[in-house]
Amino acid sequence: MAVPADHPGGADLREAAGDHIELRYFPFTAIVGQERLVRALLLNAVNPAVGGVLIKGPSGTGKSTAVRGLAELLPEIAVVADCPFSCSPQDPCGSCGERVASGEELPVMRRRRRIVDLPLNATEDRVSGSVDVARALETGERALEPGLLAEANRGILYVDEINLLDDHLTDVLLDAAALGVNVVEREGVSISHPARFLLVGTMNEEEGELRPQIADRIGLEVDVEALTEPEARAEIVRRREAFARDPESFRAGWDAAQRALAEQVAAAEGRLDEVGLTDRLYAAVGQLVVRSGVDSHRADITIVECAKAIAALAGRVEADAEDVLAAAELALGHRLAADPFAPAPRVEPQLLRRVLEEALEVEVTPKKAVSRAT
Ligand SMILES: [Zn+2]
Repeated sequence: MAVPADHPGGADLREAAGDHIELRYFPFTAIVGQERLVRALLLNAVNPAVGGVLIKGPSGTGKSTAVRGLAELLPEIAVVADCPFSCSPQDPCGSCGERVASGEELPVMRRRRRIVDLPLNATEDRVSGSVDVARALETGERALEPGLLAEANRGILYVDEINLLDDHLTDVLLDAAALGVNVVEREGVSISHPARFLLVGTMNEEEGELRPQIADRIGLEVDVEALTEPEARAEIVRRREAFARDPESFRAGWDAAQRALAEQVAAAEGRLDEVGLTDRLYAAVGQLVVRSGVDSHRADITIVECAKAIAALAGRVEADAEDVLAAAELALGHRLAADPFAPAPRVEPQLLRRVLEEALEVEVTPKKAVSRAT
């Protein structure tokens, strides 16, 4: 099969195969169904501050296909062409900053944000980079052999089966995600570089839980289920068949749709800075999070940023209560405290709506809302 399947270690095969395999990704627009997954990925493409996606579901439901397909739709960014961290010419990293200070003009290029695979069997050196200690003592940052976290800076770090990642690598990821900086320490030498990335992970809950600390670092969560509608399933098979038979002509058939969607995403990203929420919605978001039983402040930020992305993608410059609700549905599920003796908690859209309606009244008549709280 031409499309990489959901299995650990697959990323290494793709890497070894080189760039040409990238040309044969299944087009994002040709994905049948899975609207929530498609939407969550697009919202992250529009606004990186949404913070990534955790994709739950059994294998074989197209999780990886969708993530890989997203790569072709990500908006372009300006990067220092030869910087291993893809830093921004407007906000250069330490070593690029030194080059500017010494009078060098930085080479600039535009390219799409990257999706970097983190395979489960990666070594720590491969992930965070390795240090040539003897050289580091003389030259500092240039002695770093950059790893996947360097490659993922300003892009998306994709971890298939993230719940199976070993504790040590999970800690490395958490540290980098918390600071936006990757610190590599070897034999008393410490080198750091920018590592701001969106985390996109897939998991099959039957194979193990995800640590709550890492779940909280991921913006949204979607559950992917196998489609049950016979015609939709038949269409999936037909498209798979056509793609496997002749990837190039299949892709050509979807080219117009791909281009239109990429333009829509780029336009939404361009609009994002103008998108705002009315002030009372900010307070309502806080209530929504607290009354759902979620402690993390990250949930509030994710909901606000996600609501902005929803409005931007719809061509609007003001996010409304409906956008906030849709964002909350995506942002709260994986942050609910789990009871080990009960089924996994789920977000109830009806409940969220009621809480939001009440919260918005709190702004107007606080007393009434207090007496109404149940
Ligand atoms: Zn740089």
